[in-house]
Amino acid sequence: MIQRTLVLLKPDAVQRGHMGEIISRFEKVGLKMVAMKLVWADKEFAKRHYAEHVGKKFYPGLEALITLGPVLAMAVEGIDAIETVRKLVGPTEPKSAPPGTIRGDFAHVSYGYADAKGISIKNLIHASANEADAKKELALWFNDKEMHSYKTVHDVHVLE
Ligand code: UDP
Ligand code: MG
Repeated sequence: MIQRTLVLLKPDAVQRGHMGEIISRFEKVGLKMVAMKLVWADKEFAKRHYAEHVGKKFYPGLEALITLGPVLAMAVEGIDAIETVRKLVGPTEPKSAPPGTIRGDFAHVSYGYADAKGISIKNLIHASANEADAKKELALWFNDKEMHSYKTVHDVHVLE
């Protein structure tokens, strides 16, 4: 039930100054940040992270976006954290992401616009899609020493 998931605040989120506001959304629901660092990924690392998308039409744009500048990588822990975080993140396309979701509140770009321009959808954030991806992605971005187990007030007021 208690899971850990990988979250990346993509370079568009970092450079638009939305790191604090986005982290705050995770804190508010009682999720716990158990690892965090800024990483400037190169193309090879991008291909490892987005292995499932290499070769797709949108991949060159996605690689350009994710290597544009540093990303804030986080390991986030909580009850069904993978699904909970994806719920807060919202669907891939900001135009159709509902208000209240991170992608719906901080962007509005559409597939049509990005495809016509030949660029990636700038939707601020990545979150692992399932348990297998979370395990693989956390191991790619963090080593064991970078992950911390500690108590927060949520352990008392949200989890108990
Ligand atoms: N993406 C894109 N165009 C597409 C599909 C995806 O630019 O047609 C980008 C977008 O930034 C997305 C990322 O590639 O977040 C990974 O795609 P995925 O389908 O895994 O979406 P996610 O899991 O991030 O919602
Ligand atoms: Mg995905």
